[in-house]
Amino acid sequence: MPTRYEVTATALNLRASPSAAGDILTVLRRGQQCVGAGDAQDGWLPVSYQQLSGYLSANYVRVAPGAAAPSPAPVPAPTGGVPLPADPQTRLSDQSQLHPQFRQALGVLLDKLAAENRPFKVFEAFRTPERQRWLYEQGRSRPGGIVTNAKPWESFHQYGLAVDLVLFVNGQWTWSSTGDLGAHWKRLPDLAKEAGLRTLTWEAPHVELPVALRDAAGPALLASADAGWADTLASAAARWRAAGGSGAPDLAPAQRPTTA
Ligand SMILES: [Zn+2]
Repeated sequence: MPTRYEVTATALNLRASPSAAGDILTVLRRGQQCVGAGDAQDGWLPVSYQQLSGYLSANYVRVAPGAAAPSPAPVPAPTGGVPLPADPQTRLSDQSQLHPQFRQALGVLLDKLAAENRPFKVFEAFRTPERQRWLYEQGRSRPGGIVTNAKPWESFHQYGLAVDLVLFVNGQWTWSSTGDLGAHWKRLPDLAKEAGLRTLTWEAPHVELPVALRDAAGPALLASADAGWADTLASAAARWRAAGGSGAPDLAPAQRPTTA
C-alpha cells in the first residue's frame, strides 16, 4: 500500500526533478494529499498527484493521518481533441478547442484585422481551470502584478468562448501601444463588435462571445457544439472535479454531440 502524504506548507511546488531548480508542475496547498512513489532522497520526496509525477520538498509534507492511498479517479481523455496540459504555465492557442459559434465570429474578426493590416494573432484561446487558478494567484499568493480578477470557471476562456489577441510584430509578441501600434489597439474593439464579439475595457487583448457566463455551457451552446469543444470542456471539468474542485459545468454524456 503506497503512503499518502499531506502538505504542511501554505503552498508547495511540485517539481519535475528533485531540485529547487526543477520545473514547477503545479502548486499544492496546505492539507492537499498526494501518493508517495518511493523514499525521499536528499530532501526530495517522489510523489504522484492527480495525473502528475514529481518531487516535493520533504520538509513540508507529513504522512497523512489514517493514510490509505485511494486509487486515482478516472479522467476521460479527450477523443481526437488536443490533450490538456498538466502544467498551468502552458498556454493554448488551438482554435479547435473553441466553440464553433465563437470560432466562426473570431474568423470574421481575424479577416477584418488582416484586411486592415493589423498584426494581431491568437495569443491564448482555451484556458484550463488550473491555469486560471495559477494566473489568479499571481499578485495574490504569488509575487507579480495582478493579471486577472476571474477565478477558475469565471473566465470565458474556460468555456472556449474567448481568446486574447496580441500584436505579433517582427516575430515577437508585443502589448505596446506606443507609436503606430496604438491605432491597432484602438481599432480592435470596433472590429470585434462588427464581428459580433464583445471586448472588455480593462483587458485590451480579450475578445469573447457576448453571452452570460451562466449560459456558457448552457443548452443553446451545447446544441450547436462540436466534439472538439465538448471533449475539451468535459475533460477539463472532469479533471477539475476529480481533484476536488468546484464550479465546473456538468456536461452529461447524453448532451454531448458524438460527431465533429
Ligand atoms: Zn482573455
